[in-house]
Amino acid sequence: MTKSIEQILLQNEYSKEDIVCLLQATGEDEKALFRKSSEVKLKYVGKNVYFRGLIEFSNICEKDCLYCGIRSSNRHVSRYNIADAEILKAAKFAYENKYASLVLQSGERSDKAFINRITKLLKEIKKLSNNELGITISLGEQTKETYQEWFDAGAHRYLLRIESSNKDLYNKIHPYNEKHSHETRLKCLQYLQDVGYQTGTGVMIGLPFQSYEDLANDLLFMQKFDIDMVGMGPYIEHDETPLYEFRDSLMSLNDRFRLTLRMIAVLRILMKDINIAAATALQAIDPLGREKALRLGANVIMPNITPTNERANYLLYKNKPCIDEGADDCTNCMEARINMADGEIGYGKWGDSKHFSRRIKK
Ligand code: SAH
Ligand code: SF4
Repeated sequence: MTKSIEQILLQNEYSKEDIVCLLQATGEDEKALFRKSSEVKLKYVGKNVYFRGLIEFSNICEKDCLYCGIRSSNRHVSRYNIADAEILKAAKFAYENKYASLVLQSGERSDKAFINRITKLLKEIKKLSNNELGITISLGEQTKETYQEWFDAGAHRYLLRIESSNKDLYNKIHPYNEKHSHETRLKCLQYLQDVGYQTGTGVMIGLPFQSYEDLANDLLFMQKFDIDMVGMGPYIEHDETPLYEFRDSLMSLNDRFRLTLRMIAVLRILMKDINIAAATALQAIDPLGREKALRLGANVIMPNITPTNERANYLLYKNKPCIDEGADDCTNCMEARINMADGEIGYGKWGDSKHFSRRIKK
C-alpha cells in the first residue's frame, strides 16, 4: 500500500521513494509539506534572512553549457568585464549597507591573468572592509591550487552547482567533451571541501530529460556529500541555446516554480541547519517567488549589486528580474520583501552555515 504524505512527514528519515512522493505533492499534501519545512526552518535556523550582495562582474566564459545564455558559442551576447575599481565600489556599497557578505560570480575562465586578478580583488575587498566582509565566490571549475590560492586570499565560501547528480543527464545538458565532465565537477566539489570552504552546490529544476527520481537523487546527493549551502532554482529556457529545442517537452514555468519550492522544502527537512538561497530565477517566474521560498525553507537572498549598466548582459536565462534597478533600489525593495515573508534581516552578520560549524568540529 502506498504511504500518505502525512505518514511520510512523520518519519525521521526518507527513502528515495518517499522523496519522490513529497516532490509530487499537490493541494493539501503540498501545504502539509510546507508547514513542516517552515517549522523545521524556524526551529533550526530561525527567522534571520542573510544578504549576499551579488556582483556578476563578467559574462566572458570559456564553457559552452547547453542551457546557458552566456555560453561561449552565443555570438549575440555583448561581452563585458567590469573594471576592478567598479567591483571594489560595489563591495564598499555592500559593506557600508551592512550586507556583511558578497558573492563574486562570472563566466568561467582559468587563465593565469584571471586567477591573479581574483586573488588581488579578494585581498583588496578584505582590506577595504577591515576584514569584515565575508566573500563567496562562484567561478566554476578550477584546480585545487587555484581554490587554495583564493581561499588564502580571503574567500571562505564557494558555490559550484552540480547541475545534476545524474551523470547521463549531465552529459545531455553539456557538450560531451573533457571540458564538461561530470567527474571533474565532482572532483572540484571535493577539492573545495578539502581546502576548507563552506561548500555550496545546487541543481536546475525542470530540465529536459529530468525525472522526479533524478531530483530525489539530487537531494540525497547533497545530503551524502554533507554540503553546507544550496542554491537551486528552476531551469528557464533561453532561445539562443541548444536546449531550447526541447522546450515543448518541459513542464510549465509555473509547475517548475512549484516543484522548486517543494525541492527547497524537502531539502530543509533533510538538512535542517544548512544555508539555502532563494534563487533569483524564482523571481523570474513569480514576482514574489523568492519570498515564498523564504517562508518555507530558504534563509539566504542575493540582492544584485552589479553596476546597472551591465546587468542586462548577464542573461543566463530570459526574463531575468531587476536588470534595470540600482543597488540602492535593491536594498529598499529587499527590506520590504523580507518583512513581507515574515523574516528578519541579519544585517551585519555573516550568517555562516550552522551546518559548516558543526561539520568542521567533527
Ligand atoms: N560560470 C559559473 C557561475 C555562473 S553560472 C558556473 O557555471 O558555475 C551560475 C548558474 O546559473 C549555473 O550553475 C546554472 O545552474 C545557472 N543557469 C545557467 N543557465 C540557466 C538557465 N537557463 N536557467 C536557470 N539557471 C541557469
Ligand atoms: Fe559559463 Fe557558467 Fe554559463 Fe556554463 S553555466 S556557460 S560555465 S556561465
